[in-house]
Amino acid sequence: MSISVKNITKIYGEQKALNNVSFEIKEGEIVGFLGPNGAGKSTMMKIITGYLPQSNGQVRVNGLEMGEDALELKKQIGYLPEHNPLYLEMYVWEFLEFAAELTGVKNKKERIAEVIQLVGLGKEQNKLIESLSKGYRQRVGLAHAILHDPKVLILDEPTTGLDPNQIVEIRNLIREIGKDKTVMLSTHIM
Ligand code: ADP
Repeated sequence: MSISVKNITKIYGEQKALNNVSFEIKEGEIVGFLGPNGAGKSTMMKIITGYLPQSNGQVRVNGLEMGEDALELKKQIGYLPEHNPLYLEMYVWEFLEFAAELTGVKNKKERIAEVIQLVGLGKEQNKLIESLSKGYRQRVGLAHAILHDPKVLILDEPTTGLDPNQIVEIRNLIREIGKDKTVMLSTHIM
């Protein structure tokens, strides 16, 4: 099993965001995580990716658990958070080089060039991120998420705020980059 979530509960102070949630995602699947705003989707994704601790329950990704295997596990996960936080004042290539440095990507230049090609940022690679449209910024976020070639991709609302053409493009892109990965993506578009 690629992602195994067992009896996850998350309580923020008084607010119970997740109540005993369990599910499994098999290797190679692309799975939609559907629910209205406030349902707890982002919270679940933050727990799977190790950004937040759960109050109760267990998460395993490729058989590894966040506690003792945290570093190894994070290497296997690519995460596109909601609202796609990017350094807008950086150039596309510069940002990806910075991210590659931080995550210890080998053969940096070759890998960045490969990823830029894959997500269709060839013409934009020397532009400032703040000058890009929302659809192209989303491509930068996806490039960042797959840079270290993770086996599992967690994408939080990857198409929210995009126009209909961009939605189709990003969905096709997710299908393409998800060919040899397990992908979990959330949406509130019911
Ligand atoms: P979704 O992603 O489905 O919109 P969230 O996981 O963002 O849902 O939120 C689930 C619930 O948890 C909501 O009621 C939200 O207000 C609450 N919540 C989320 N983050 C926090 C936080 N840091 N502190 C307190 N409550 C939070």
